[in-house]
Amino acid sequence: MANGSHSYEVVVLGSSNLDLVATVERLPSPGETVLGSNYAEHAGGKGLNQSVACRRAGADTAFITCLGTDDAGETLHRLMTSEGIAAYVTDHAGPTGRALISVDEQGENSIVVVPGANTGLSISVVDAHRDVISRAGVLLCQLEVPIDAVEAALAIAKVGGARTILNPAPATKLNRSVLQLCDVIMPNQHEVALLGGASSLLESGVSIVVITLGARGIKIVTKDGELQIPPFAVRAIDTTGAGDAACGALATALAHGADITTAARRASAAGALAATKKGAVPSLPTQHDIDALVN
Ligand code: ADP
Repeated sequence: MANGSHSYEVVVLGSSNLDLVATVERLPSPGETVLGSNYAEHAGGKGLNQSVACRRAGADTAFITCLGTDDAGETLHRLMTSEGIAAYVTDHAGPTGRALISVDEQGENSIVVVPGANTGLSISVVDAHRDVISRAGVLLCQLEVPIDAVEAALAIAKVGGARTILNPAPATKLNRSVLQLCDVIMPNQHEVALLGGASSLLESGVSIVVITLGARGIKIVTKDGELQIPPFAVRAIDTTGAGDAACGALATALAHGADITTAARRASAAGALAATKKGAVPSLPTQHDIDALVN
């Protein structure tokens, strides 16, 4: 249960979506209607995925998010609670965030994301949760909610003494004012390229760059040099959620006092495990799963 005076090991600030997934023989052209062969609804949004990833990896986790005043909002709120996450939900008039996804038989997809309530995660929502953020061990953010709110949360966490981690996804250019508030930035290969490369991030004030390299594992880059964390060999069937699993495991390990190399190894294991199962939330591994692969 959400508790205003508690110090959480990890506080996640970010998006919540309901993903509506239709399976089709082939994707429709503009103006065309095709019949789908299957339909499923899944919890999604990087904020929600990563808060579940942290909780399953063993962190006492709080999640600050905005939900719409609709059934989807209630469904996602129940999921957070059932996972054991302290949910700090702000209701926002209108729909909960949605991703409308069509997937064809070759695995090709087309996606429309409607941010909905996620656009309501404003500086004033962050301010209303100042106490929770300032007492966090680690603050973990992504970029599916307004950047000024992310920047405000990072600033509060820094003043409170939390470690700050930013997963810069979806990829976008970032101001120095945001980067200098990040102890750790955790991009994938595409995101780090768009941000100008690891050395430019370090020059902008980031202390540690952790680059996820898909099946090639993880690279840590600091001012002292680079360290490659080898991948764990797994039979990968669906890498959806691998990045979110890795971010959650890294945040959790750092909150538990691990050094960055140990934390990145656990992140690499969590990402590999997520790649062995379909979907995002269903594939996120537990602390026990991660321990078993790492040891
Ligand atoms: P994103 O989904 O954000 O692009 P990645 O695909 O880089 O993230 O995956 C995150 C991490 O998960 C990788 O750094 C790696 O450690 C692990 N991982 C992903 N795919 C595989 C795979 N096929 N085999 C082993 N590990 C993987």
